[in-house]
Amino acid sequence: MNILLLGKGGQVGWELQRSLSVLGQVTALDFDSQAHCGDFANPEGVRDTVRQLRPQVIVNAAAHTAVDKAESEPEFARLLNATTPGLVAEEAARLGAWLVHYSTDYVFDGSGTRPWVETDTPAPLSVYGATKLEGEQRIQQSGCQHLILRTSWVYAARGGNFAKTMLRLGQERERLTVIDDQWGAPTGADLLADVTAHAIRHLQHRPQDGGLYHCVAAGETTWHSYAKFVLEHASKAQQAIKIIAKEVAPVPTSAFPTPATRPHNSRLATAKLQTTFGLQLPHWQTGVARMLAEIL
Ligand code: NDP
Repeated sequence: MNILLLGKGGQVGWELQRSLSVLGQVTALDFDSQAHCGDFANPEGVRDTVRQLRPQVIVNAAAHTAVDKAESEPEFARLLNATTPGLVAEEAARLGAWLVHYSTDYVFDGSGTRPWVETDTPAPLSVYGATKLEGEQRIQQSGCQHLILRTSWVYAARGGNFAKTMLRLGQERERLTVIDDQWGAPTGADLLADVTAHAIRHLQHRPQDGGLYHCVAAGETTWHSYAKFVLEHASKAQQAIKIIAKEVAPVPTSAFPTPATRPHNSRLATAKLQTTFGLQLPHWQTGVARMLAEIL
């Protein structure tokens, strides 16, 4: 199988380099790759890359993921999250190639407490959410064979993430304040990459199972409970790092004003994905504990 991976250096892209490697020949590109253009700010360049490489499967992990920054550069966010993915999808349709793409819980407005299902109506609150939704729609309208995985709260051992920020603050301060009114599931980039590889295999035999799916780790939490889990785990690990934080105080979202509005309810229902692909999504604590074991 001839696979083109775009956005190879991001959290998910890095893990995809590993998980896709057993499926076939992978050409992995980033925005500054030399041999072929992988820069989503250059839509025609990326389109030419697809035309030259003629992949059977395209996996797009590139995106404008700076949620707050997107509020002040909406056109650039739209280019990276909607326009270029749309063009890639049109090329995939011409080639008869599969396109795998990632989207977000931020397409929803976060109302209620029920986990969102794939058929719920999106209503994004931010530029990031709106541009990611447009990306989904352009892919769906292109007519290409596609798999879109909406996920949430992605972390990885490599690069910066919320857990690492909490570990740093936990060593610097005796008291932390963390938001306790946003609900979701921290989801490992490694889990997303593994699910992607399994799904690609599955779709070779059952192309009718393509479409839009929610893909997050099992269980639910708030940023506050997530922070407590990380710090308690680190304290017990008794490694070189010394946690001095004695209190993690819960605060509402309004305590940390940000340019982009974030949804309160980011719970995503995953029954469709688990049933269709015969997969079981592990609890978020399993993946976070594993990541902590790697970085502590
Ligand atoms: P990252 O920000 O880690 O990765 C995004 C990648 O896109 C980075 O390698 C980034 O490069 C790259 N990129 C930035 N600008 C360009 C460009 N002009 N051309 C090509 N590539 C570019 O994000 P994740 O791996 O976490 O996200 C993967 C997918 O999951 C995305 O579609 C995202 O929207 C989605 N998602 C992520 C969530 C999260 O919490 N992170 C939550 C829900 C969905 P560089 O790092 O050099 O800027």
